[in-house]
Amino acid sequence: MAQYTPPLRDMHFVLHELLDVTTHLKELPAHAECDLDTINAVLEEAGKFTAEVLFPLNQSGDAEGCTLDVATHTVATPKGFKQAYRQFVEAGWPALSSDPAFGGQGLPASVGVCFAEMQNSANQAWTMYPGLTHGAYEALHAHGTAEQKAMFLPKLVSGEWTGTMCLTEPHSGTDLGLLRTKAEPLADGRYRISGEKIFISAGEHDLAENIVHLVLARLPDAPQGSKGISLFVVPKFLVAEDGGLGERNAIFCTAIEHKMGIHGNATCQLLLDGAIGTLVGQPNKGLAAMFVMMNAARLGVGMQSLGLTEVAYQNAAAYAKERIQMRSLSGTKAPDKPADPIIVHPDVRKMLLTARAYAEGGRALALYVALLIDKELNSPDEAVRRDCADQVALLTPIVKAFLTDNAWIATSHCMQVLGGHGYIRDWGMEQYVRDARINMIYEGTNTVQSLDLLGRKVLGDNGAKLKKFGQLVAGFVEEEGTNEAMQEFVNPLADLGDKLTKLTTEIGMKAFANADEVGAAAVDYLRICGHLLFAYFWARMAKVALAKQDSGDPFYSAKLATARFYFAKLLPETAMLIRTARAGGKTLMEIEEALF
Ligand SMILES: Cc1cc2nc3c(=O)[nH]c(=O)nc-3n(C[C@H](O)[C@H](O)[C@H](O)COP(=O)(O)OP(=O)(O)OC[C@H]3O[C@@H](n4cnc5c(N)ncnc54)[C@H](O)[C@@H]3O)c2cc1C
Repeated sequence: MAQYTPPLRDMHFVLHELLDVTTHLKELPAHAECDLDTINAVLEEAGKFTAEVLFPLNQSGDAEGCTLDVATHTVATPKGFKQAYRQFVEAGWPALSSDPAFGGQGLPASVGVCFAEMQNSANQAWTMYPGLTHGAYEALHAHGTAEQKAMFLPKLVSGEWTGTMCLTEPHSGTDLGLLRTKAEPLADGRYRISGEKIFISAGEHDLAENIVHLVLARLPDAPQGSKGISLFVVPKFLVAEDGGLGERNAIFCTAIEHKMGIHGNATCQLLLDGAIGTLVGQPNKGLAAMFVMMNAARLGVGMQSLGLTEVAYQNAAAYAKERIQMRSLSGTKAPDKPADPIIVHPDVRKMLLTARAYAEGGRALALYVALLIDKELNSPDEAVRRDCADQVALLTPIVKAFLTDNAWIATSHCMQVLGGHGYIRDWGMEQYVRDARINMIYEGTNTVQSLDLLGRKVLGDNGAKLKKFGQLVAGFVEEEGTNEAMQEFVNPLADLGDKLTKLTTEIGMKAFANADEVGAAAVDYLRICGHLLFAYFWARMAKVALAKQDSGDPFYSAKLATARFYFAKLLPETAMLIRTARAGGKTLMEIEEALF
């Protein structure tokens, strides 16, 4: 049966040995007290909660799913979800990395991200309820009025209320400029909101007494397109004078979607039938305000996929050591058994190592970004804050798309390791594959992430942000230039850095003549950038492991072996990607629409 052990050893390695987070946190007044013991103690407890409370509900939640009572518009989550949520709230977990001014514990994002990974390994569908809540908290924290903050933030931070993001409408997905939901101003400064939203995750449920919906809608005089969208906070129950629950608001779940995965999360159609809401931020600037939530959610989706990659790997590795089939090509390895365990077969190892390299590389990248966020939000130095914000902006679409694409590959490989047993339900592996697929679609499809990266973040600022990251890579390459033991890692890293620079210039030139060239290259381009990041972090991890390889701790020899596997077997994908990116858009665009 499925199993999960929180990867605390690897988290400690990344946090303390690779990134030395506590030294960085000491420079941030808000986190200066957060020492190694505190971090490790929190992760230990978080690991227990995820493995002991959330994980046992993953397969049962998937099998049972959510049910809607159409008459009352109420949704029941699978058995056990509610109790687990109560335990989560009682233990104070929702407040982990929120602002102490609103009841949060103020721990750094670097710790919050580790918890997010573990929650998602244990139960992605359940984790989406508090995950969206944290996104709503961030948007209101950044753009809410003092009154809105006082009304909603303490309840979101405590977990008493949950949150959602309501963007999508039947005719408006990627192109939010098409949305039609209307907001009519009332005499008291509030708004009456009407429209239909679809695909709203955690849009209705029985885990908490109130749901705080953040809704995109148009004011009556709004300009057409994305410049005419405003953001509103629309609670399921209006808030009474004493801060408790008031009248039921006119926002109702009319249906829940039947879907491929994440069955334990209610994906809702919501009808806003003149619901009362208040404006968040400036009129017609709703997309900018919502972007706070969307960026948090994009990193969150990366964590969903990292979590799935890790848990799929653990289960496939355990299975491969037990399952015996055929003999090793190079001679019997388990003479006491009628056949060898399948882990002796090179291709089984390749599939396992692919998942492992994606999990450990993804963890290094994600925690690096989390530390950048901590600095962006808390550094006393304005230049550091700006620099970190630039890096976070550049890396966010890569974390979202590269980690989610990798999880799709990794979970599929892990299913293959289990053979036919991977395809049937009992082992839990097919659920990971199904759950992983949505992560490439929502929060802006991975194509949209790639356009954001290449079009806006790279070409849009003439490569300035990319250059900053390039300097980091170049600095490391130079530092290790004379270290013989590091050449096998540093040379391919430097080579890819050079090729990416040339490719960026080439696409930029082509794009002047034809903007479709950006769209034709963007997906390949993002994947090349993802590999550059992974090569950088795998090289840095190899450096730490090389220094410790005489310690006798097998953790370091495994780390080094995985680094070598990554450079030998996964990084070369970039050669093909560079070719396809350079091949341009002509072959895509020359076929007439009618011939499709
Ligand atoms: C289970 C689930 C949960 C969800 N949760 C939420 C939620 O909580 N809140 C919410 O608001 N929404 C949610 N969504 C909606 C989700 O974010 C959208 O499905 C997604 O943004 C894509 O929109 P769409 O489905 O309308 O596809 P479309 O926008 O119609 O896109 C279809 C295809 O066209 C491509 N495409 C579109 N424009 C371009 C372009 N310019 N260049 C290249 N390719 C393009 C897309 O990449 C995609 O492949 C959820 C969806 C699902 C299935």
